[in-house]
Amino acid sequence: VIQIKDLHKSYGALEVLKGVDIVAGTGDVVSLIGSSGSGKSTLLRCTNLLEDSQSGEILFDGEPVKWSGSGLNRRPADRAQMIRIRTNLSMVFQQFNLWAHMTILQNVMEAPVTVLGRDKAEVEASALKYLDKVGIGDKCDVYPAQLSGGQQQRAAIARALCMEPKALLFDEPTSALDPELEQEVVRVIKDLAAEGRTMIIVTHDMRLASDVSDHVVFLHQGKIEEEGPPEAVFKNPQTERLKGFLSATV
Ligand code: ATP
Ligand code: MG
Repeated sequence: VIQIKDLHKSYGALEVLKGVDIVAGTGDVVSLIGSSGSGKSTLLRCTNLLEDSQSGEILFDGEPVKWSGSGLNRRPADRAQMIRIRTNLSMVFQQFNLWAHMTILQNVMEAPVTVLGRDKAEVEASALKYLDKVGIGDKCDVYPAQLSGGQQQRAAIARALCMEPKALLFDEPTSALDPELEQEVVRVIKDLAAEGRTMIIVTHDMRLASDVSDHVVFLHQGKIEEEGPPEAVFKNPQTERLKGFLSATV
């Protein structure tokens, strides 16, 4: 589904990504781990076309993403392609970013109705289905402030699912949560993985990464330092940096 090839990204003089390659095929769960500042969020934002890169390529379903213009005018060249990619790669952030003035149901329905122009009754039915799936079907008529952090994050996941995306991108979905609320979100992510959804997950939760991933990528200062199946990465790390990172995070 997603192919990232030799991606380089700088902010001014600061080179944040120094040639990163990642592939997530259909049904793959790829986890990105690495210390703060290693470029994980930047990589997700580039994947979702929230940011451009200096060189390298991103392909979505084999189709290379095209950019045009320069400086502040630089943007995806093909608006239809951009919308197709953004809606097919639904992102869940650390801060849930729900709209405070809308009920949970309205939050979940908003983008499919306004961005995709889908039929309202149909979207409502699928919104209710996804809210049920994440365990908050009874909360559809309340406002975000009336939910716990874990419930808000689950609402944000239902909102992402309601776009019927081909892949989900998670940026530290549990790190804003208290430990006891974290587990309810972890459970939802595990269910999604078990269903065979394609996901890229940035996480500090090594147990989550180890439990759900097909492939784990350890990013260090903008480069892939080590990668492999979770058994190898977590049980038999090869590089000193990964060994150090893992012993510091346990
Ligand atoms: P964390 O684990 O703390 O979330 P991260 O791996 O997600 O870290 P990024 O947010 O991708 O790291 O940031 C990588 C580097 O890029 C950092 O040094 C950061 O300061 C820099 N950076 C990120 N966004 C910008 C921006 N918009 N402008 C300038 N520098 C940025
Ligand atoms: Mg980050």
